Amino acid sequence: MTFDLKINHPFLDLGAVNLPYLDQLKAAATRVIESGRYIGGPEVEAFEEKMQEVAATRYAIGVSNGLDALRLILRGYKELGRLRDGDGVIVAGNTYIASILAIVDAGLTPILVDPDPLTLNLSAEGILEGLKHGHAKAIMPVHLYGRLAWDSEMASLAQRNHLLVVEDVAQAIGVRAAGAFSAGEPVAVAGGLGDAGAFSFYPTKNIGALGDAGAVTTSHHDLAEAVRALANYGSDRRYHNIYAGFNCRLDPLQAALICVKLQYLDQENQARRQRAELYNKLIKNPDVKLPPLPSSACQMVWHQFVVTTPHRDNLARYLRHHGVATDVNYPTPPHLQPCFEGREPFASASLPITERLCKELLCLPISSATPLPSIHHIAQTINDFSPTSL
Ligand SMILES: *Cc1c(COP(=O)(O)O)cnc(C)c1O
Repeated sequence: MTFDLKINHPFLDLGAVNLPYLDQLKAAATRVIESGRYIGGPEVEAFEEKMQEVAATRYAIGVSNGLDALRLILRGYKELGRLRDGDGVIVAGNTYIASILAIVDAGLTPILVDPDPLTLNLSAEGILEGLKHGHAKAIMPVHLYGRLAWDSEMASLAQRNHLLVVEDVAQAIGVRAAGAFSAGEPVAVAGGLGDAGAFSFYPTKNIGALGDAGAVTTSHHDLAEAVRALANYGSDRRYHNIYAGFNCRLDPLQAALICVKLQYLDQENQARRQRAELYNKLIKNPDVKLPPLPSSACQMVWHQFVVTTPHRDNLARYLRHHGVATDVNYPTPPHLQPCFEGREPFASASLPITERLCKELLCLPISSATPLPSIHHIAQTINDFSPTSL
């Protein structure tokens, strides 16, 4: 096996993703440079107004990144007395580690449960499992891979058990609950489904900044005020600190760049849907399991297209040999990371589905910059794969 093979189908070419917006991005950057305003101000305010629309919430606060968005929400609820040290937060064990780091950082306890094996997301069963631990005060639905992790059953479980709902929307900007849960209800959008939502604009996300950036969305005035203060040294007005806070502000430069791309949110997500539907139609290999299509297309924004196969490493090697780059999100689950070794509740976590997924899942190229002919080629190559191919 050689590794200097030519990759004709990159996993994600960020330069190509941003190329259609090049002129507008340059104009926005120039505007900020010439404005002389480099912290806060109208660019950040315009971004926050746009995010209120995106999440259909009353408030949005631009922050430094997705991890900080989650940390600020949880710390905010502690400052408001809604969460206390050691309270449990139910979360799926197969999430990206940032979800878990935020919970631990806030002095809370993750209650790790396995995801649903089909949707790969937290489910009502997962919440019921988590509730057996007794001290659950919140849940963190992570809309992993761009799939809505919320339904009417989960909503009523949260309500009946007085659980705060903190959404991790890092991978799912624009994902919607069709309809919402019963006829007549307004359409609900991720970031506005629970009490608060955390967004990331890390460059690889569906809408990526040209650096780090994030946002918190909520319709609760008290939380919005707490998060805004905490992100600015804990200051509610100049030189007056009500919390021992952080500096987690969003740069106006990133705010302006993201605003350019947010104009094209629907197109970007639609481009991913088109590619996902093509893969789903074209890939026909009994050894490769496809992700289920959601009942309504709006419930998925396809941050990743994740297939599973017991021959994962073989398939990845075979695809690379045929010029196709893939990725594994994620090869090691948070509870098995060295930082949590020997530490509870990680050491005794039993998460067989999470651990199997890490060995079997493979992410295929799916960005708006992946040409449709590449999708055809990749699907055909996968159809020609057999576990003994390499
Ligand atoms: C990317 C990501 C985060 C963290 O966002 P950053 O902006 O990279 O800090 C949190 N949760 C999930 C599920 C993510 O994918």
